[in-house]
Amino acid sequence: MTYSLPELSYDYQALEPHISARIMELHHSKHHQAYVDGANNALKGLAEARETGVFANVNRLEKDLAFHLGGHVNHSIFWTNLHPDGGGSPEGEVAAAIGEFFGSFEAFQAHFTAASMGIQGSGWGVLSWDPVGAQLIIQQLFDQQGNTAQGTIPLLQLDMWEHAFYLDYVNVKADYVKAFWNIVNWENVGQRFEAARTSAAATLLIS
Ligand code: MN
Repeated sequence: MTYSLPELSYDYQALEPHISARIMELHHSKHHQAYVDGANNALKGLAEARETGVFANVNRLEKDLAFHLGGHVNHSIFWTNLHPDGGGSPEGEVAAAIGEFFGSFEAFQAHFTAASMGIQGSGWGVLSWDPVGAQLIIQQLFDQQGNTAQGTIPLLQLDMWEHAFYLDYVNVKADYVKAFWNIVNWENVGQRFEAARTSAAATLLIS
């Protein structure tokens, strides 16, 4: 199998009271696992199609691959974006970049919160590095794979699917987003920012 479920660097209960152990357990061991399995199955189906020369299901398989691989990548990033000792505000280069591209940390937080809360249906709020414009941008990612540009590199993601918060916050999304800011792992976001900015692949995008 190509894809596998990553282990978390903290226990399921470690993010309480912001995210409950029950949600973390279901979210990681059931939901994320299903994306991993779905992505592996899609690859298997595509390999079978090539072997048999029967591509009747290619559209469905490609959609499945995008959705499930998207889910696997999104959740893998999300887990590392969170930490029980997180919260506060960023430091160093990523803090300077947030100030440069959004005006202030408070303006960034307001923009990211509004983008996350405003998603119609299921999706993610995402802070990304855009290598073409050499800037930070905020995106609304629909479902697991839609509404973002190729080549943008995610640094911070917030899962706005109902499975991510409903058991704890029912329909009060605002409280979930507020709680999220208390557990953001800014060190991880900073590491991702440094890696994205210096990525050699990024410079190949449109040259
Ligand atoms: Mn999720």
